[in-house]
Amino acid sequence: MKTFGFAAQSNTTPLAPFEFERRDLRANDVAMEILYCGVCHSDLHQSRNDWGFATYPLVPGHEIVGRVTAVGSDVSRYKVGDAVAVGCMVDSCLECDQCRKGREQLCRKGMTQTYADKDRITCEPTYGGYSKHLVCREEFVLKVPDGLDIAKAAPLLCAGITTYSPLRTWGVEAGNRVGVVGLGGLGHMAVKLAAAMGAEVTVLSRTKDKEADALALGATRLLVSSDPEAMMAAGSSFDLIIDTVPVKHDINPYLPLLDIDATLVLVGQLGLLDEPSTLPLLFGRRRIAASPIGGIAETQEMLDFCAAKGVLPEVEMIRMDEINHAFERMERADVRYRFVIDMATLAGA
Ligand code: NAP
Ligand code: ZN
Repeated sequence: MKTFGFAAQSNTTPLAPFEFERRDLRANDVAMEILYCGVCHSDLHQSRNDWGFATYPLVPGHEIVGRVTAVGSDVSRYKVGDAVAVGCMVDSCLECDQCRKGREQLCRKGMTQTYADKDRITCEPTYGGYSKHLVCREEFVLKVPDGLDIAKAAPLLCAGITTYSPLRTWGVEAGNRVGVVGLGGLGHMAVKLAAAMGAEVTVLSRTKDKEADALALGATRLLVSSDPEAMMAAGSSFDLIIDTVPVKHDINPYLPLLDIDATLVLVGQLGLLDEPSTLPLLFGRRRIAASPIGGIAETQEMLDFCAAKGVLPEVEMIRMDEINHAFERMERADVRYRFVIDMATLAGA
């Protein structure tokens, strides 16, 4: 199938219109027309090759919501017209111990990412959701629950699951004290999801600018991370901190804020950090961890949770041809709190 989208041709070129082929339907494939695609900071990192494993042409986009246009002969869960979604993964081995436990993101043979990866059968490049159509195997397609606004749901497919998964893994429940470092796309979903679980949520931001937003999103307070006195006063006061900062940074100021046995989970920066000290780790038996997205069953659970609790991202809708400007704004942390591309604007772009 011929389709089109926006792609980066190298790590220095802006995104521009790009025509390409989607594969013919395999028996277990679902084809969809993409209606909305969220803009994740990972799309920006990958377009610029910040992590060193981008492949070009690169069609970003892994927060995908669409409508089914065709299904393969063996597909049983979806039919033409269904509202569906695809996140950061489009395949895994589905046979290893991790896949069998529903942790496809930890597949022993490596998950197949939605873009800048290789199809497991043909080795052809995978292309993401900044495009008109997508073909994906049934097991990696999610159902958009009735009652979830499809124009706003897309960011749940990455920002939502990446923050929901650590909240569940570390067993957050009502009354727990959760800190969220960085109030961007992931951060604002962490606040909403933790608050919906009944946690007491604190935003740790670089300035006071987002204080009113933090409270409106469900946090009880905003702590300015550049204020040493306020940080000192918050010592040992968190059961879990989720750090969403997208660049190399110093995590030492956050470690003493954890209570005994509590964990700092890094979901933002990929790669080196400034040197963390073991002192607060040892004296409080505190832990540092990191976490990638979440499994397919957990992603469906998160979508159902959001539908039941009325949790939705704060969305700024953009046109496809505004994407390069959106990337510039994201680099300046000038997003409140997630760009979503309206794919109806892609035709003829
Ligand atoms: P975003 O919308 O740009 O938000 C990042 C936030 O971090 C900003 O709003 C800002 O919050 C803070 N920040 C930005 N620059 C900073 C700096 N230089 N120093 C300190 N804080 C800074 O990004 P996002 O889409 O939420 O993504 C965040 C990171 O998560 C990215 O690196 C992305 O690649 C990664 N990610 C990981 C996974 C995973 O599976 N683990 C999944 C998706 C994304 P304040 O203004 O409040 O300080
Ligand atoms: Zn993402």
